[in-house]
Amino acid sequence: MAFSQAPLPFDPSALEPHLSAKTFEFHYGKHHAAYVTNLNNLTKDTELADKSLEEVIKISFNDATKAGIFNNAAQVWNHTFFWDSLKPSGGGAPSGAIAEKINADFGSFDKFKEEFKTAAVTQFGSGWAWLVLDGNTLKVTKTPNAENPLVRGQVPLLTVDVWEHAYYLDYQNRRPDFVQTFIDNLINWEFVAKQLGSA
Ligand code: MN
Repeated sequence: MAFSQAPLPFDPSALEPHLSAKTFEFHYGKHHAAYVTNLNNLTKDTELADKSLEEVIKISFNDATKAGIFNNAAQVWNHTFFWDSLKPSGGGAPSGAIAEKINADFGSFDKFKEEFKTAAVTQFGSGWAWLVLDGNTLKVTKTPNAENPLVRGQVPLLTVDVWEHAYYLDYQNRRPDFVQTFIDNLINWEFVAKQLGSA
């Protein structure tokens, strides 16, 4: 059974003007697709080919002989989770249980936004910023390269990709502007609430 690329949950032009169709042509059509192809090539005819993507990520993490498998498997998972974290006319403040939990664990929505933006902007080089459930507490974290909260025993609720390929076509070197736009206009809070609800 080969690993497959989940369909993009919106039209490639649906997030314009914040993220262009051109960005999705490369980010979804080339980068994400290549991770899927690489993962299938690396696991072909091995016992990992029949495992779930999450199992492959956990098995290959911190195993130097499986570094390529980990990097590609985690990047397949991370990108699918990132597409689900986005929606047209998203962003702004959430409501309901997720809003109450953010206020309880961060102090306020503004504090959460500040912490999330700082994590995303200060991740040196390639990586990801996350909102996670750690035990029973919401936390903001950042991970380098392909690493993700699954291997740290945390439940991912939201992510933003801060690899340069995620924003360079639309924002060039201005990562802070991309992250601010993500927070203000793109976060899919319904998806975050669903992740919290099933955690
Ligand atoms: Mn990416």
